[in-house]
Amino acid sequence: MNLKNSQLAINGGKPVRTKIWIDNFTCGEEEKRALAEVIDSGYLSKFEGSHTPDPPFSFYGGEKVQKLEQMWCEYYACQYAVSMNSATSGLYAAIGALGLGFGDEVIVSPYTMSACAVAPMIYGAIPIFADISLESGSLMPEAIEKLITPRTKGILVVHQFGIPAEMDGIMALAKKHNIKVIEDCAQAHGAKYKGKPVGTIGDIGVFSLNVNKTIQTGEGAVCVTNDEDLRYRLALIRNHGEAVVGAAGYENITNILGFNYRMTELQAAVAIEQLKKLDHMTELRLELVYSFAEGLKKYDCFVPLQKCHNCSCENACKPTFYVFPFRYLPKIGGVSRKELFEAVNAEGMMFYQGYVRPLYLQPIYQQKKAFKHGYPFAASENKDIRTNYFAGACPNAEQLHYEEMVINEHIRLPHTLEDVQDILQAIDKVLNS
Ligand SMILES: *Cc1c(COP(=O)(O)O)cnc(C)c1O
Repeated sequence: MNLKNSQLAINGGKPVRTKIWIDNFTCGEEEKRALAEVIDSGYLSKFEGSHTPDPPFSFYGGEKVQKLEQMWCEYYACQYAVSMNSATSGLYAAIGALGLGFGDEVIVSPYTMSACAVAPMIYGAIPIFADISLESGSLMPEAIEKLITPRTKGILVVHQFGIPAEMDGIMALAKKHNIKVIEDCAQAHGAKYKGKPVGTIGDIGVFSLNVNKTIQTGEGAVCVTNDEDLRYRLALIRNHGEAVVGAAGYENITNILGFNYRMTELQAAVAIEQLKKLDHMTELRLELVYSFAEGLKKYDCFVPLQKCHNCSCENACKPTFYVFPFRYLPKIGGVSRKELFEAVNAEGMMFYQGYVRPLYLQPIYQQKKAFKHGYPFAASENKDIRTNYFAGACPNAEQLHYEEMVINEHIRLPHTLEDVQDILQAIDKVLNS
């Protein structure tokens, strides 16, 4: 490889690709028709923060919201689904529903979306960051185990990039230490761990329907659970719970300050159509993913993140790849990630280097200031908790972020195998320069 080669676009040569990349477009005629139907009905939402029936309004929302939840239960073979206006809201509601709060530690991933670590703090609990696997990008049971204390009451595991985390190990720890498990499946629609849909293994699963996810309704989410009380608590937190519990005679009112996390009928109508298309869109995306992964194989310097969980049955673990992450090993490649991917991107590509800065390095953790007076860290219940908000706390996350991880987003629809060929050609051109 000679990065000074004048044929390379970075040195003024002709780029492999000039065609622009397209964002994640997943909606079509079906969604338009579904929206028109709701608009014609006149009721864009049918939620009401009360158990007193006042048709067509209801505490559980309108037909579209309830239909979406029912379809979600069928698709995921779970008992209850509770829609939300975002997965951020869903994560907050999950922490609340599980009764976590002041004095509790919740183990979270440092290498994920910010709300995962904020969710515990909303209720006064403290996030503790465990390291992730270099192979899957998700929390490792070994790293979690080292951080468990008598105050560990929750684990919020993310199936990062749509690659299932090691749930057997995590659930075994949870059982042994009586810890609640939330699965963040924002990026993992349809992914399976040993044959089971992710999201249905822990206590509550949270799926995002944000515009960037594999299926979407602009903003939205669905929580799943098999526990009837958790389902009710999620529904209370979604919909002004404190105004309802008295009349309902529900006694376990801790954390039942309600918010408004309700989904509109419009969003639910789009989400219904998107769920119908999920399997088809996943299969199309996986074709692109595996064609790209195949093309990377001839280079020793690239290692895809794709953990196999060694189960006996074939294909039982199914990653669904929200994006396609891989490691670039600079020692083998001979140049830094920055040098290599600046040259590749100059060929008309848009590879991302790294994902998010490990969360514990953000000011909110460095300064321990979430709320006024340093709460929740400064609360008397939390004062003795030993946090791990320092550089080096999660070496794998830092290694992936600062040195090795590269993300290819162009395995998303509506891209095609031809687009994947462009991407591989750009990599070949630079590596063979
Ligand atoms: C997108 C995302 C969220 C938040 O989802 P919203 O619906 O946008 O609030 C949470 N966790 C992960 C891992 C995500 O990718």
